[in-house]
Amino acid sequence: MTETRETVILGSGCAGLTAAIYTARAGLKPLVLEGHEPGGQLSITTLVENFPGWPDGIQGPELIDNMKKQAIRFGATFQLAHLNSVDLGAHPYKLSTTTGEIHTRTLIVASGASARWLGIPSEQALIGHGVSSCATCDGFFFRGKPIAVVGGGDSAMEEALFLTRFATKVTLLHRRDAFRASKIMLERALAHPNIELRTNTVVDEVLGVEDLSVKGLRLRDVANGATSTIDVDGLFLGIGHEPNAKMFTGQLDLDDDGYIRTHNNVFTTHHGVAVPGVYACGDVQDRRYRQAITAAGSGCMAALEVEKYLEEHGR
Ligand code: NAP
Repeated sequence: MTETRETVILGSGCAGLTAAIYTARAGLKPLVLEGHEPGGQLSITTLVENFPGWPDGIQGPELIDNMKKQAIRFGATFQLAHLNSVDLGAHPYKLSTTTGEIHTRTLIVASGASARWLGIPSEQALIGHGVSSCATCDGFFFRGKPIAVVGGGDSAMEEALFLTRFATKVTLLHRRDAFRASKIMLERALAHPNIELRTNTVVDEVLGVEDLSVKGLRLRDVANGATSTIDVDGLFLGIGHEPNAKMFTGQLDLDDDGYIRTHNNVFTTHHGVAVPGVYACGDVQDRRYRQAITAAGSGCMAALEVEKYLEEHGR
């Protein structure tokens, strides 16, 4: 018979690992399903300068690794699996994962958000062949080559700055002339001698599909319609993220963009009615703050609600 767990945590980013630390310290022996991007977004970032307690900053992967070790020390277990489907219609909840079925009394959804793509066919055809959404993963391959980055937010600025370590030149392409990026990140990017900014510009086509290797970009100026091409060997997307919540469609209330709707921070609903023992935290339910520290904070809240729920319903 399948064992019923006290709690299962979906996702191993900042929110999931914080929830794991708290629930493990409460003796709940949490099982963490690491998901398809173990460690979440911090594991593919570089220096994190705004996580309190690290006056000189800390590398994202190191921060994540520290959190995971901390959770393991208190008894959390980890499985390299992700959720295929879930049944929240009957208690205990049933999770169908890539490694089998799991039953659990409570569930913490910390499945985060994944990188967004432009969606044009040539971009999709060249993912992994010069098109990437992860500068820290793939930047190394573009040593001594020109590349382009798309986006006008902090991610794009961070990627562009990071990629100057490798690329001869980084062309930063943004579809508007106003930016979502914070002032400090934008100023850093604009001040860099190897970053050239082109605003009001969109990518119509990634060139090189026939050779399965990025050769350049066909661009369009949205202000006057003029098209042009640039020679680049790589294209990096820094255009935001999609919440990983599709598997909860019809089980939990989602908003128009697919984020899990929460109330009182981490409580979930279905057709507006509370789903007992199921809590969501981190980027899968947060379109506004999306910071490591806010994800960690909401992971802590979800864990405390799990403890409270299990105390009230008997352990
Ligand atoms: P974001 O702030 O939502 O910015 C996404 C950017 O991509 C926007 O400029 C958007 O353009 C553009 N974009 C979206 N879809 C596009 C498309 N199909 N084609 C072309 N451009 C498109 O996302 P983010 O930069 O990932 O940042 C998310 C959050 O994480 C923010 O709160 C940010 O501060 C934080 N963050 C912080 C750091 C740091 O502090 N080191 C690093 C990374 C992220 P429009 O502006 O025209 O919509």
